[in-house]
Amino acid sequence: MSLESNVERVVPVMVPMPAERPYSYGVPIGMHVEPGSIVRVPLGPREVAGVVWDGPGEQVAASKLRKICHAFDCPPLPEEMRRFVDWVANYTLSPPGMVARMALRAPAAFDPEPMTEGLVLTDLQPDRLTPARKRVLEYAGDGQAWTRSGLAHAAGVSSSVIDGLISQGVFEHVEIAARPIVAMPDPTFGKGQLTPEQQSVADRLREKIAESSFSATLIDGVTGSGKTEVYFEAVAAALEQGKQVLILLPEIALTQAFLDRFHDRFGAKPAEWHSDLAPRKREKVWRQVAEGQVRVVAGARSALFLPFNELGLIVVDEEHDPAYKQEDRVFYNARDMSVVRARIGNFPVVLASATPSLESRVNAEQGRYERLVLPVRFAQAAMPDIAALDMRRSPPRPGGFISPALIEAISQTLDRKEQSLLFLNRRGYAPLTLCRVCGHRFQCDNCSSWLVEHRFRKQLVCHHCGHHEPQPDACPECGTLDHLVPCGPGVERIAEEIDQHFPDARTIILSSDLLGGVKRLRLELEAIANGEADIVVGTQLVAKGHNFPGMTLVGIVDADLGLTNGDPRAAERTFQLLHQVTGRAGRTGLKSKGLIQTYQPEHPVMKALVSGDAEAFYEREVQERRQSGLPPFGRLASIIISASTKPEAEGYARELRRAATHASEIDVLGPAEAPMALVAGRYRFRLLVSASRRSDIQSYIRAWLAKGPKPRGSIRVQVDIDPQSF
Ligand code: ADP
Ligand code: ZN
Repeated sequence: MSLESNVERVVPVMVPMPAERPYSYGVPIGMHVEPGSIVRVPLGPREVAGVVWDGPGEQVAASKLRKICHAFDCPPLPEEMRRFVDWVANYTLSPPGMVARMALRAPAAFDPEPMTEGLVLTDLQPDRLTPARKRVLEYAGDGQAWTRSGLAHAAGVSSSVIDGLISQGVFEHVEIAARPIVAMPDPTFGKGQLTPEQQSVADRLREKIAESSFSATLIDGVTGSGKTEVYFEAVAAALEQGKQVLILLPEIALTQAFLDRFHDRFGAKPAEWHSDLAPRKREKVWRQVAEGQVRVVAGARSALFLPFNELGLIVVDEEHDPAYKQEDRVFYNARDMSVVRARIGNFPVVLASATPSLESRVNAEQGRYERLVLPVRFAQAAMPDIAALDMRRSPPRPGGFISPALIEAISQTLDRKEQSLLFLNRRGYAPLTLCRVCGHRFQCDNCSSWLVEHRFRKQLVCHHCGHHEPQPDACPECGTLDHLVPCGPGVERIAEEIDQHFPDARTIILSSDLLGGVKRLRLELEAIANGEADIVVGTQLVAKGHNFPGMTLVGIVDADLGLTNGDPRAAERTFQLLHQVTGRAGRTGLKSKGLIQTYQPEHPVMKALVSGDAEAFYEREVQERRQSGLPPFGRLASIIISASTKPEAEGYARELRRAATHASEIDVLGPAEAPMALVAGRYRFRLLVSASRRSDIQSYIRAWLAKGPKPRGSIRVQVDIDPQSF
């Protein structure tokens, strides 16, 4: 290969684009790059940041070879991370460039920390000690370097006081990093006393950390058993070994309480990572993780792609939670990919849940994971007493949704000055609006879904594409005024019914569309924990991990809601969700109760919830999955074909189906309309690939899509390996 004279060699660079493999670039003479280096390269008319990948670059004609423009002064993306990116891309059938993109989500962080002028004390004393000067010296006496304005602010003096001291030589200038140094978590800081059961689980986890090799452990512990306390011991052990730690949490709203709790245990907060983080903060965390200043990150699923150099433990809290699945661009399950990341890095991963996923249970049964059980709540707190309310026998009053028995229970709870939680997994006021005269139903123009009335916002809203319109007075079909009726309840409507029964109670609605976003939500959660509400009406946001000390009654408004969609996973999901919700009650030892409103009290989910016997329920579910060859006993992939017109989508789906080759132990089903047939103006069809556990479903699909008809026009094809619903 003849190289341009000022090019030293050719390297592959992964660019954050839907690229199937890295592109080749020339390294200018004198520029130092190695695999993992973060560089800026020309791409078409632009320049983008990419990562030098492994191996030699593919040969490119010397005349076409473009050069790396700039190598950032930034720690290289570790080898483990590059292998992880390749693995995820290969498994999810995503372009590796798109996976790499997730690891490069903080562009401004590639430049080194900006330096700024700092001040430190010299040995000289000021000529005169005024009270203001005294305060400044007290603050500056901590041995750290301060910025001029930071010191003035801390001491509560004007900057001229500082300037006066500088001119007398009391301070000298030094260069300091503009980004503040992060406090180190201290593994011994707030170590508490564990119960004997907790201690034995913690000891086992410590052994795993000491082994410093890959292992997967499932902590299966009832709500309130102290799973968090216990995995904190694993975190402490990893920190003692000088390792970095990643704790994944399913819900951003949860992190605030979690950060505080972590602080109590370790004397410093972990770094936070999620998509709502301000860009500046995100860049800071990314860089400090890469440089090793941040030792612990608590984050959402995307934290898995942070550039850890010394990662030694991943904890996945609430591992069963569907929020770990990303269904956008790269479709991946962060729980599963955590296990992969741990295997590549050769360190332990700990999954925790009160209601483990069927997949993890089966993995434990088959010996791939070790299952550690915490069977009782901490501090003699009893599990709530659960009863099913048969809605056929105890119907609500006309126009209402809450049965007399539940109303009575709320009333008694109020009398005891304790808190009640009513759970309904539906935002807004009513899921459907109907014209009483002509029967017209308000539907989204872009999606196959009804518009949901949000009474506080005075809008009809599509929960799939976000389309919203003002709440109408007249029917668009027949023009009749004031005959539109809301059908069915959302949380707003339940809160209204509660207000009618208990006008003096303090009732809070907790739902992700609360005005004020995450901040407001956190405040509300705190208010509830502090006893500033009597009755909480909430969506699934209230299900997860919160500790509400005064909560002794949980009412499930519609336990049947998630069971009707025909998905084989529906029972498992409903059980997990409702068990989590009822688990909010009685966490501090008060006697507590869960009441489940249902039209099918004989359903296995209701029976399992009432009896508290999860084992029998899981065994039955496992049996069914095994018999039908569904995951985790078989493999599934869903191929979603979408287009802006229905014939286009359907036509292509059929063509693609015909191009599928026969393979033993692999079946292609469909096409059929996708469960949501129209989303945001795109018509969707689905092909399901079902295969035996040992077949290579990825290779099959890759080969099939490569030789099948090319998507044209508005057609888009998305592959979802291990889909959430099937
Ligand atoms: P889980 O994660 O299993 O739901 P947590 O770890 O949140 O359980 O524990 C439930 C509650 O009990 C928390 O308020 C926690 O602080 C408390 N707790 C659990 N174990 C201990 C312990 N050994 N010492 C003190 N408090 C504990
Ligand atoms: Zn819509």
